[in-house]
Amino acid sequence: MEKKIVLLPGDGIGPEIMDSAVAVLEAIAQRYKHQFHFNTQLIGGAAIDEVNMPLPDQTIQAAEQADAVLLGAVGGPKWDNNPSELRPERGLLKIRKSLDLYANLRPVKGFETLLSASPLKEDIIKGSDVLIVRELTSGLYFGQPSERRDNDQSVVDTLHYTLHEMKRIIKKGFESAQLRRKKLTSVDKANVLESSKLWREIVEAEKVHFPDVEVEHLLVDAAAMKLITEPSRFDVIVTENMFGDILSDEASVLTGSLGMLPSASLAENGVGLYEPAHGSAPDIAGLGIANPIAMILSTAMMLRYSFAMNVEAKAIEKAVETCINKGLHTADLHVDHGIKVSTSEMTEAIIKELTI
Ligand code: NAD
Repeated sequence: MEKKIVLLPGDGIGPEIMDSAVAVLEAIAQRYKHQFHFNTQLIGGAAIDEVNMPLPDQTIQAAEQADAVLLGAVGGPKWDNNPSELRPERGLLKIRKSLDLYANLRPVKGFETLLSASPLKEDIIKGSDVLIVRELTSGLYFGQPSERRDNDQSVVDTLHYTLHEMKRIIKKGFESAQLRRKKLTSVDKANVLESSKLWREIVEAEKVHFPDVEVEHLLVDAAAMKLITEPSRFDVIVTENMFGDILSDEASVLTGSLGMLPSASLAENGVGLYEPAHGSAPDIAGLGIANPIAMILSTAMMLRYSFAMNVEAKAIEKAVETCINKGLHTADLHVDHGIKVSTSEMTEAIIKELTI
């Protein structure tokens, strides 16, 4: 197959881990006889520095014409005091909105040999394998900024959802559960919020179309508690934007490091965007010690969801697992055994597993 992939390395460790992703994809192309055409574009602080805007039109156009987009990360202290329209994170929100990336999928799976790297007790996280399906383009984070402040005497943020926006993400939750262990946990705050009451009604209406999926409703506060006390009870969690933002970061502790967590952001019919769950890690940028695994596993998600290359995606996931099981780990994984490696050494080891 021949595919066009737009690369958005961004800031901090973004360019370093993007190099790892490209190296892995080149190895996949060679082994499975594909052709991947890479087109690197600007986003975030790198774009602000070069063209004074966090997401140039050229980047959006390239992304719209691509078969998939890979993103490193954006942001860093250099741009922290910029006015809001010149913040790197603006580029991220804008590309999600421009490509209508309404569904964010974050798998969180504990690796057996890394259980001790988690701050949680091993017997609690053992067997955890959760997929969080988060709404990404609406809700509280997309209210109108102009309405928010009244002379600093009062403040309001607007949580707005259309029926269509809720229905499509809930449907994605059901479909995802159907492909896994067929258990869906819908998370809301229906005892307080009107939006959550409608959300719950839609889940109830939708479940008749998925009779094989077991559904439960959890309030977000209870979900936050159960995620760290009984994580293995979850299969798929579906929730709105802000609840998903918070719960998915909470779930990241199950793997021992943010550096292990991939994500996919999907549109209804258009191009998908794949990125690690972590940020630009400015504290370790340029040191060559960033964990490339979240980025590499994001490329596996791209192969699976955008290109239907399941065999290739599985090959990457297996190579990562083999390297972890051999004891290779980057500095962010606080394990007291095995071999500590750099970004490029971890990447080379994964590629070696792919090609043998
Ligand atoms: P972060 O995820 O960048 O870093 C948190 C901690 O985890 C740091 O100690 C960092 O060194 C470590 N870490 C993260 N990824 C790692 C990796 N792959 N390997 C090894 N260690 C890793 O979060 P932060 O420090 O809160 O934010 C830094 C910047 O990133 C901010 O400007 C923030 O706005 C931005 N950010 C961007 C995204 C994104 O691009 N999607 C997401 C979150 C934060």
